[in-house]
Amino acid sequence: MSAFNHVVFCVSMSSTHRALIFDDFKGPLEVRQLPIPEPQDDEILIKINYSGICHSDLHAWNGDFDYATIHPLIGGHEGAGVVVKTGEKVKDWNVGEPAGVKLINSNCFNCEYCKTGNEPLCNKISNNGFDRHGTFQEYVTTRAIDAIRIPKDLNLASAAPVLCGGVTAYKALKEANVKPGQIVAITGAGGGLGSFGIQYARAMGLRVIAIDHSEKKDHCLSLGAEWFVDAFNTENLTDHIKNITNGGPYGIVNFAAAKKPMEQAFEYIRKRGTIVLVGFPKDSKILIDTTPLIFNAITVKGSIIGSRLDTEEALEFVARGAVKVPLEMVKLEDVSKIYKKMEDGKINSRVVVDFSL
Ligand SMILES: [Zn+2]
Ligand SMILES: [Zn+2]
Repeated sequence: MSAFNHVVFCVSMSSTHRALIFDDFKGPLEVRQLPIPEPQDDEILIKINYSGICHSDLHAWNGDFDYATIHPLIGGHEGAGVVVKTGEKVKDWNVGEPAGVKLINSNCFNCEYCKTGNEPLCNKISNNGFDRHGTFQEYVTTRAIDAIRIPKDLNLASAAPVLCGGVTAYKALKEANVKPGQIVAITGAGGGLGSFGIQYARAMGLRVIAIDHSEKKDHCLSLGAEWFVDAFNTENLTDHIKNITNGGPYGIVNFAAAKKPMEQAFEYIRKRGTIVLVGFPKDSKILIDTTPLIFNAITVKGSIIGSRLDTEEALEFVARGAVKVPLEMVKLEDVSKIYKKMEDGKINSRVVVDFSL
């Protein structure tokens, strides 16, 4: 970055910006004017144009997670914007480049997990919108090494929800190890993660059974699912899925945050198949019979979010048009209304804060 750019951006920016902040769990969500943060030597300052609203933001506000959270807190971890300032030691980002801020604010890059590309498992992790202020603010600083490259031809609004929701779905499908032409079952298929999941699965060459409430049937089929199974009104769901798949799906990705679909997955998974658990209900203990698991050589895995590489791969699918992101734009002030809708299960698209509104 040239000194000229540095000066231009410094004088053209005001010293404060809008941020949505709350002081305690479930406390009022207020838009306040706060000082714009200054990037450290190894950081960049990003003007956030769009920030996706994720279910985890609601959980962070509610205090549902047994996870480190600071107060007061600015939530948000799906931020997409443009670099407006770079720290002195930053060499690989330029002012004007599109950049994303994901859930993981920083990881150590030096532990066993970081070294093997498992950044989300780092023991020294810090997360935006949890133990560090997130992206429900107009300007965010982040270490340059943690920022995500956004393809230049991808619109920033569509990029935002991929930074958590999209990559979570994509990573879970990678973990399922289902090969092109084989069948994967997706539970909670009509929800936010499921809607991403169906599309990523199809783009990866997989055949999809979507499992969800009957009212999600048309939605799931329109996204490319080959079969739809009503999770609540299908007699002998296990037998039905085994029949249509001639022995069970090769992989199951469970996005449904409920115990029953998790238990059922163990019943209809194909021999040598892989169950990937993503959605977690508050009481997530389930009872499973381990004997068929052993005799059928089943793999069970958990999956959380992806690495920086997974995230950039997930963005590529959207940039190529292989995955579409249905968007609903709202104002920063409207986040609390969206949380209410989320609690009522009334969100069918990806809701994104548009800071120009
Ligand atoms: Zn999230
Ligand atoms: Zn680490």
